Order: sequence, then C-alpha cells, then structure tokens
Amino acid sequence: MSSAQYLAAARHAVTQASLVCRVVQKNLEAVKAVTKDDKSPVTVADFASQAIVAHVLTEQLGKVILVGEEESNSLREDATLLAATLAAVQEVWPDCTEESLVSSIDIGRGDTDHAGYWTLDPVDGTKGFLRNQQYAVALAYIERGTPTVGALGCPNLPMDFSESMDTPDPKGCIYLALRGDGVSEVPANDPDAHPRRITRLDHFKGEPIRVCASVESGHSNADDTDRILAHIGESSSPIRLDSQAKYAVVARGQSDAYLRLPTKKGYVERIWDHAAGALVAVEAGCFVTDIHGNPLDFSHGRGLEKNKGIVCAPPRVHGLMIGAIRDLGIGKA
Ligand code: AMP
Ligand code: MG
Repeated sequence: MSSAQYLAAARHAVTQASLVCRVVQKNLEAVKAVTKDDKSPVTVADFASQAIVAHVLTEQLGKVILVGEEESNSLREDATLLAATLAAVQEVWPDCTEESLVSSIDIGRGDTDHAGYWTLDPVDGTKGFLRNQQYAVALAYIERGTPTVGALGCPNLPMDFSESMDTPDPKGCIYLALRGDGVSEVPANDPDAHPRRITRLDHFKGEPIRVCASVESGHSNADDTDRILAHIGESSSPIRLDSQAKYAVVARGQSDAYLRLPTKKGYVERIWDHAAGALVAVEAGCFVTDIHGNPLDFSHGRGLEKNKGIVCAPPRVHGLMIGAIRDLGIGKA
C-alpha cells in the first residue's frame, strides 16, 4: 500500500474522530451530569476518538499496529462511562456495539517493536478540551524511528487568522503531511474538501518573534521562555494554547516558535505528543529539534528518551532560540 493511501486513511480517521470529539464537547454538561464527574467528558472523548481511529484504519488498511494513549480497562468497569462513550461513537459509527467499541479501543494496545506502526493521541490537550479551547486529534505513522505520515486534527482551530484562537471555531482544520512531500490543510468538517498546501516562509530579521507555548505551567517552563525572549531582545509575550495545535500554528505562519522547555528533570516526552505535529511543521519548512538542537529520535519506544524539550521554528528563529538556550545554560544537567 502506498503512503498516499496511508494518508487518505489517516485523514478519514481523524475527520471522523474530530467529529466525535465535537459531539462530546457540545454535550459537556450532559455528560458530566450523567457520569457525575467533571473530568469524564474528556475520558469519553478520549475513548471514543481512539475507537473511531482504530476502526477506520482497520477498515481501510486491514490489520494495523496502533500505539494509542488509551486502553479500555477502566471503561469495561464503568457501565455509565461505557454507555456515554457508545452513544458518542454511534454518531459516526451507527452499528457499533459495546463489544466492538471495547475491542476497537484495544487495537491501540500495539507496541513500538515493529518497523512501522501508528501512534495516536486521541485527545491531545485535555485541559484545552475541557475549557472548550484548543485540543488535537494527533495520528502519525512512524517508520524505522521517523514519522512519515501525519494527520493532525484541530477541531476548534480557526483557519482564518483574524478569528480568535481562544474561542472554538465551528469548522476547525486538519493538517495532512507526508514526509518529503509537504503538508496541506483542510477544513475539519468537510471530508471531501480539496487540500490546500501550506508553506512556512523563513522569518525576516527585524520582525517581531511571536512565540507560542503551553497553557499549563507544568508542561513548559514559562520563566525560561521569558529569559530567552529577554536574551534575544524580544518584548512580546507568548501566545498560550494547548495541544499540538502549536505545531500547526507555527507551520502556517501565525507564530514564529513553539518552545517546550522542561519543567522537571527526567520528564520524557511521549511519541504521540509530537510525531504528527513535528512532521506537519517540518514539511512546512520549519526545524524541529529538542532544546539542545538534536533531532527528535522516535526509535526508543513510547518516549523520546534521547531528547529534552522541544524547539520548533522557521530556520532563522530556530537558530536564535538554540543559541539563547545554550547561552543561558537552560536544560543543563
Ligand atoms: P500541552 O497541551 O502542549 O500543554 O501538552 C499536553 C501534553 O503534555 C499531554 O498530552 C501530556 O502527555 C504532556 N505532559 C504531561 N506532563 C508533562 C510535563 N511535566 N512536561 C511536559 N509535558 C507534559
Ligand atoms: Mg497529549
């Protein structure tokens, strides 16, 4: 099967999963009321999204190896959660049963010990999801340690730069990337829309550098971000948004750097938090490395064991950021 067929299957999977996430988000309050738990909507969306992605990939490609973030144990033990998840999934997969739901989620139990496998974060940026802000459905195919196919669904991200990223967009967008073949953008609500190619121009000297970073203070060191900005003489404050939507925002030219600076020693980034987003950014023309300028190495199982943090930016800004991190001694053991 060709990589274009893999990308087509990934697009379909992420389109359907994004739709399901939107259904759950529209019914946040109803789901909370039924399950009597404020965090349950994201649990429902996580399980539903993973089930849909596994189902669509299997339908289109046959047996797949999928390394997903979720596994169904807690769902099996909770009848209310199971019913809420099934109701959401049936919006796009009407004849799904409890049994097919649970076995579909468990397709995501694959391991990384293969020459090629899919990896999925069914709802990346769970806090953003609960705030009705940015989150992502992030699916990538990793071949011999390198992401080669990526579909990054950003169901609440407006395509139009004049719209605020803090409020959910009614359409959303999906980024589709093939290694060596570029990246394109489609609206998340139209499975037949023609993909529009995106390219990241390099940053011009003298223009402001608009950095983006996590909303959650535990995920990226905000003080270090400020030190870097001060070091390179920038006065603007970072744009804050959840999830791998940050990679898309840099790839499409709305921000000039995504900085993810370690907050605690020993945290290992997960492959599903970066594979799809990093490929999208690289294929648009950005550099994506860890904070020391090393390439991301996806050949060490479920974690980016050999890397520390993330710097994603067009080439000129990437050089400035890596230089500032080195000058300031950030991330030194
Ligand atoms: P973001 O939305 O960019 O803040 O990232 C969300 C992701 O951060 C989640 O999917 C988690 O896997 C990941 N995460 C959890 N703890 C940490 C941590 N201490 N440092 C960096 N990332 C983390
Ligand atoms: Mg995640």
